[in-house]
Formats: sequence, C-alpha cells, structure tokens
Amino acid sequence: MPAEAVVDLDAIAGNAAVLRERLGTAQLMAVVKADGYGHGAVPAARAALAGGASWLGVAHVHEALALRRAGITAPVLAWLLTPGLDLAAAVAADVDLSVAAPWALAEVVAAARATGRTASIHLELDTGMSRGGASPQRWADLLDAVAGHVAEGSVRVRGTWAHFASADAPGDPSVDAQLDVFAAAVATARARGVDPGLLHHANSPAALLVPRARLDLARCGIALYGLSPAPAAAPAARLGLVPAMTLTARLAHVRPVPAGVGVSYGLTHVVPRATTLGLVPVGYGDGLPRHASTVPGPAAAVLVGGRRRPVLGRVCMDQVVVDLGGDEPAPGAPVVLFGAGQAAGRPEEPTAQDWAEAAGTIAYEVVTRIGPRVPRRWTGAAA
Ligand SMILES: *Cc1c(COP(=O)(O)O)cnc(C)c1O
Repeated sequence: MPAEAVVDLDAIAGNAAVLRERLGTAQLMAVVKADGYGHGAVPAARAALAGGASWLGVAHVHEALALRRAGITAPVLAWLLTPGLDLAAAVAADVDLSVAAPWALAEVVAAARATGRTASIHLELDTGMSRGGASPQRWADLLDAVAGHVAEGSVRVRGTWAHFASADAPGDPSVDAQLDVFAAAVATARARGVDPGLLHHANSPAALLVPRARLDLARCGIALYGLSPAPAAAPAARLGLVPAMTLTARLAHVRPVPAGVGVSYGLTHVVPRATTLGLVPVGYGDGLPRHASTVPGPAAAVLVGGRRRPVLGRVCMDQVVVDLGGDEPAPGAPVVLFGAGQAAGRPEEPTAQDWAEAAGTIAYEVVTRIGPRVPRRWTGAAA
C-alpha cells in the first residue's frame, strides 16, 4: 500500500488507563464516534474497555448498532437523534438514547412500546453551549413528561448530561457557569421526582483539567487517542498520553532541482537554492488537510531518514512534495506523516497536532478525516 494508518491499540488502552486514574471514582465513557476519530470504532472500543472504560459513547444510533453487531455488550449511549430513526432497533439492542425534547421522548416511548422493553434514556440539558440539549426554560416541562413515562415503565432515566463549550481553555469562567446551571437542573429533577441517574458533563479537557467537572462519568474521545484536548496548556506528552495513529507512506519519487523552480499547483513555493524533492503519495483525497499548505505559520513536515522534511507548496489530491534538503533517499524509503512523536521519545517525528497547527485547525480534525482510501492496520496486544 502506498500509505497506511497504523493504530496502536496498546496506546489506546494505556490512554484509557491514564484517564481512569485521573477520574478517581468517576467512570470513563470512551467516545468512539466517527469511526473512533478515524482509528476504527470497534477496535478502539475494545482497547478502551480493556484499559478501564466502562461505557461507550457515539453520536449516531447507527454507530451504536455497529458496535452491537460486532458483539460489544458494554453500555452504549447514542446522543444525536433526529426524527424518524429506527429507535426500536436501538432499544432492542440495549442502546441508551439521549432525550432533549418532547418529540424525542415520544419516539423513544413508541420504540419501547413496540419492543415491549423499557428504554434507557439520558436527559440532555443545554447549560450554556447553545448546541444540543433542552433549554433551561423547557427543562421542567421535559422532566414532567419524563416522569409520567417512567411511572408507566416505558423509560428509565439512566443519566443526565450536558456538554462544555470551553473546557479546553483552562480557567474559562464559562466552565463553572455551566456546572452551576447543571447542578440547579439536577436539583430541579429531584424536586420533581425524577432520579437523574448518572451525571455527566465532562469531555476530555474537563476530565483532565477540571476536577469539579468529573461527576459520575466523563465522556472522553480525543485523549483516548493520545492527543491533547488543550495542546497549548497541556501537551499530550505531559498528560501521559500517547498518540495512537501513525500515518505512514513510502517515497514515490526523489529528484534534484535547481534554485528558482516553483513547486506544486500555482507554483506558490519557489525553492531558494538547489535541493532534492521527495514525492509522498498522500494528499487531501486521503484526508490530509489542504490548508496545511496555505495557512501562514509553521509548515507541515514529514519524517524521512530520521529528519523533518517540510512540505513545499500546495497539498494535492493524491500527493505532496517535501524538501529533502539535498539528501537522496531511495524511492520507497519510509515516510512518517505523523505519529506519536515526543510522547514516544521521538521528538523529530511530526504529530497530528503539528499538522493541525500547520492547517489552522485542531488535531481532532486531522485524525478523524484520514479517509477510507488509507487502509488501517491495528497493532498491540488487543489487535
Ligand atoms: C465528541 C463528544 C465528546 C468527546 O469530546 P472530546 O473532547 O473528544 O473528549 C463528548 N461528548 C459529546 C457530546 C461529544 O459530542
């Protein structure tokens, strides 16, 4: 294969163990949505469970059902419902469903009745991010509707949850404000006779950096994959996290060029002095961010022969050109586009975080977007 994403399942299990230790008595929900942030949802889920996670979380019902089809029996929550889904399949497969509005409650109740089972739900409140969740003004009405269905046995409330807007910015006042709104909403639930179940608000940054936010359960994604949710304040290596995905390729072409030649589409980069160029057969068609070639700031780089080689000019659909600085490694020489880097004692090796900075985005996007053209290979004891 011209390129491959190697996923170290021991790293995922180890990162889960690091999170579990940070969480104290709180449980860990391993978030494996979007194919486990590109790492493979099923193997990532198994590795996280082996490392101490006790819950799995996904956005979509179909993602939860895929975990069940693979034989995974751990509790799974799917939190992004849209009207008209086959929720009976979810209830029959023992998938917990998030409810933020009366229409969702009605559809879950209908699914429970159709299957003759009690559906497990997690009530979602908006505590200040203004994305999903019931508005605080509609919370009491939602609770009253839920209470009726709990009494008749069609639903049980297994959890109550919300999501942070800015937990990756240490000390941001919105974090405490959101927790205060959450605490008040939990009190309202109890006052109206609804047991809120497991309380969960934290994502990776909150789980790692905000002890007060850990509650009963924390939903962690990015940290599980070994990338820091707050890279400026707390780099992955300092958090004890090891990036799990290594994107590799082999040099397709190596050749010398004289000073003054332009490189790649638009000839946006002109080499200032004679050098050698390497062709890496990976591009935006594989999910490499094209912005890495157009955002001002540090250039993206790859590792060849133990050294960082900067990307020159634009990222193409299938390939990028790198500056080999006069070296002439053989075509076929191994290339690491990104890997564990410093966290694995390889400071020269670029990381997904480095690519994110070059592209003006976050490492979440870099790994999640590595596309289906790149085959995955899983390594480690859990593979
Ligand atoms: C994606 C997601 C998470 C995980 O966030 P990380 O920052 O990757 O830990 C947690 N909760 C919800 C609702 C999410 O959408």
